[in-house]
Amino acid sequence: MPFFPPKLSQLSLYTTLLQQCLDSNSLQTGKILHTHILKSGFLSLIFLSNRLIQLYFKCSRVPDARNLFDEMPDRDSFTWNIMISGYVKSRNIEQAREFFDGFVSRNDISWNTMIRGYVEEGNGSRALDLFNRMLLEGQRPTHFSVSSVLRACAGLLWLKCGKQLHCQIYRFGLEGDVFACTSLVDMYCKCREIQYARRVFDRMTERNVVSWNAILTGYSQNSLGDECLGMFIKFLEFGLKPDHVTFAVVLSSTAALANLAHGKQLHGFIVKTQFDSNVFVETALIDVYAKCGSVGDARLIFNMMAERNAVSWSSMIIGYAQNGFGREAICLYKEMSGSGIKPGAITFVGVLMACSHSGLVDEGRRYFEIMRTVHGIEPDKTHYTSMVDLLGRAGYLNEAAELIEHMPLKPDAAIWGALLGACRVHRNLEMGKAAALKVFELEPQNASAHMLLCHIYTECGVWDEAAKMRTKMKNLGIKKDPGCSWIEVGNAVHTFVADDDFHPQIEEINLALKKLIEQIQEAGYVNHLNLTFSCDGIEEGRQSYHSEKLALAFGLISTPSEKAIRIMKNLRVCSDCHSTMKYVSQISGREIIVRDVCRFHHFRDGKCSCGDYW
Ligand code: ZN
Ligand code: ZN
Repeated sequence: MPFFPPKLSQLSLYTTLLQQCLDSNSLQTGKILHTHILKSGFLSLIFLSNRLIQLYFKCSRVPDARNLFDEMPDRDSFTWNIMISGYVKSRNIEQAREFFDGFVSRNDISWNTMIRGYVEEGNGSRALDLFNRMLLEGQRPTHFSVSSVLRACAGLLWLKCGKQLHCQIYRFGLEGDVFACTSLVDMYCKCREIQYARRVFDRMTERNVVSWNAILTGYSQNSLGDECLGMFIKFLEFGLKPDHVTFAVVLSSTAALANLAHGKQLHGFIVKTQFDSNVFVETALIDVYAKCGSVGDARLIFNMMAERNAVSWSSMIIGYAQNGFGREAICLYKEMSGSGIKPGAITFVGVLMACSHSGLVDEGRRYFEIMRTVHGIEPDKTHYTSMVDLLGRAGYLNEAAELIEHMPLKPDAAIWGALLGACRVHRNLEMGKAAALKVFELEPQNASAHMLLCHIYTECGVWDEAAKMRTKMKNLGIKKDPGCSWIEVGNAVHTFVADDDFHPQIEEINLALKKLIEQIQEAGYVNHLNLTFSCDGIEEGRQSYHSEKLALAFGLISTPSEKAIRIMKNLRVCSDCHSTMKYVSQISGREIIVRDVCRFHHFRDGKCSCGDYW
């Protein structure tokens, strides 16, 4: 009579204990249980064996899992799926595929697991092949498989394929599914088809935070910062709660726009929503303040962080470096090393940039060495570019050229461009020509390399070659981006181009600028008219006002005298404008911060933080 109850309770005991082992990864207890179950004869119960196999995979005991599978007299579809997913998770995709192919009654879980496996392995084309076979075999896709394959398309930038999947989503009635549609939005964003992404997004009947984050990331990564911020406002109106990803994305857009007013507003909002103690959000805030030239505010946030990871340290180091505070950047790096946080590749990008922007050659050489020898980080192209820039600018042109020659990676246009830039500074025509040719090989339409070589010819007095260069550029249709500067006054951003006549207050601005130049001429400023090309790509020799000069004059007449003037510029600032800014900072007593395409210049009392080294 008492046959069932004890057996049953023993069985439920095994089940409970096995679940506990799985939850806590206890392999030892699991093995003991395995022996017990075997002795009690319960191993023939498929679901117990399945649990044990799961446990072995989870504890990385793949051979044990395999043995148990081989010994099982009967298996069910769970057994097969556990084997497939176990091999996928232990990164043995070929074995997973063997089990997948050997399993005759595959179900949607088997297909999804296998497809996801390929995607996670970065093998998008096999994922797509398998998905197509799935459709051919009449297996209905679920939002899991569609999302996986869309991720594969996004990774491979296979827009055509992604569009076909878009049709499949309709065909299988998944258009109301939030997961499938979010993956679709993400795919279109990654393939830079932001309008399609937006259309899908607008038609979604249900959206969660992940969907919003996908479209916000799309705008942000496609450099559509204003759209990103606009969408974020819609998101808030919608009544959903943002998460740390939302804030990190929106902050990164703000950083790219260098919009300090927005950054401050967002910061306030983040404090209110209590996300200000999240390490990702805080790190993004550091980046915003640093990119807006407010290094002090960035440091304040850094100091108040309860928890800092390597990225937070690196962001602060890069912030200092970009703003020309090389010594502070290196000081912080030393502090980071002392605090026991391991520096990463990105940390050294900051450290080398700091050395490069501040002309710290010996330190730069040393850090470039120890990143490899002490920290085991192989320098990538960014590190090489910084190093070439550092050596080249300091006049060690041969050492820079040798570094390129011996680097294990194939040098790209940016690295040759850095050497070319240095050749211009030191008027080395021969090496400059060679470096420019390398850039042209890789990027025939590279405008700045053409401009640089043209400058070198001009500055070395080789006029006929300079003229030839200009004809070549015209024939190739190469135009330099028009120079453009912008400045925030009140809550509006005012944009200027060289010799602007669009701004409503342009007459007032021109007048102010004329007066300003007269004033600084009295203080010793000389106009450098000997350059053929200027930073805005227009020929000098006539009175012309570069965009940053116009922005400066506008800033002076329309902001209170105690406020720093912040100007953003899409190209490198020219030496004439640089010198103008220095004089103006002296005679007006105002702090002027210019962010050009490469770095920041903090002008104060007639000096610039870059030490005239840019
Ligand atoms: Zn200029
Ligand atoms: Zn400067």
